[in-house]
Amino acid sequence: MLCNSLKINEIFDSIQFEGGFCGTPATFIRLQGCSVGCSFCDTKKTWNSQDGNLFAVQEICRQVNCNHVVITGGEPFEQDIFELCELLLSFGKTVQIETSGTVECDVPDDVFVTLSPKHKYKKLIPQALERANEFKIVLGKEQDVNDVDVFKRHGSALWFQPMSRTKKGLDLCIKAAKIHDGRISIQTHTYLGLD
Ligand code: SF4
Repeated sequence: MLCNSLKINEIFDSIQFEGGFCGTPATFIRLQGCSVGCSFCDTKKTWNSQDGNLFAVQEICRQVNCNHVVITGGEPFEQDIFELCELLLSFGKTVQIETSGTVECDVPDDVFVTLSPKHKYKKLIPQALERANEFKIVLGKEQDVNDVDVFKRHGSALWFQPMSRTKKGLDLCIKAAKIHDGRISIQTHTYLGLD
């Protein structure tokens, strides 16, 4: 069987502290490459698709220690991750992808897709909106609360995260959770000093 290779930034074990899998030990596979260009990005080291190391998907799977796997980036869908997902699922792993929703989500049905919109939702792909199992939405100003309607129409779980972990952001998250029937997701790992 022919297997493809992927450009990897890093693979590490930690805890998923965001969204519906909060509290779950996970192996994070951070893919290299992202052309979205968010000004607030905290993983700019992933932007250049020429950087990172090339690994065959079997080799990537060998580095997975946890039952839950989070494929993140960068923008994971800028590479073809279908085969990696299939292989991980065949090993009995639960697989979660974290995407910006700017590229079509081509993954097996059993994969859980977390869509965290960037760039004021400008470049969102309709297919990604439909495919998402949950939305993780960062709120920083009042208008952001009204914009949530875009995601509500798609019926998946809504998680709100305060921008830059500010009190104002938290207040907006509480307001949005009440209005839109969502929940609040705090980046607990940053307070604990974890990756
Ligand atoms: Fe950074 Fe994610 Fe935006 Fe890409 S989509 S620039 S990785 S925050």
